[in-house]
Amino acid sequence: MYKDDTGKHAVQWYGQENQEMQAMEEMGELITALSHKRRGRIDNESVCEEIADVLLALESLKFSFGEDKVNEYLAMKKQRLMIRIGVEMAAKTERERGNTE
Ligand SMILES: [Mg+2]
Repeated sequence: MYKDDTGKHAVQWYGQENQEMQAMEEMGELITALSHKRRGRIDNESVCEEIADVLLALESLKFSFGEDKVNEYLAMKKQRLMIRIGVEMAAKTERERGNTE
């Protein structure tokens, strides 16, 4: 199966410190893009481009800090979020039921 090693190659070629700096810059650009989007100054396309930059930078960080550990945390946090959403949905349904009875 094909494994995308772009993050690994970027770290090996440019160095971890450089890729960490790149990630910080890209995350800053995404924050700015989202802020500009809220003000109607840029379109979705520009935000998508900044999201892609951040995702690419995160691949380098995952390689540097431990892909398996990051994936483990990601799975745990996704599961926790889904449980929280389920609890909140149930509470909302209960409130709405209470309002109509
Ligand atoms: Mg960018």
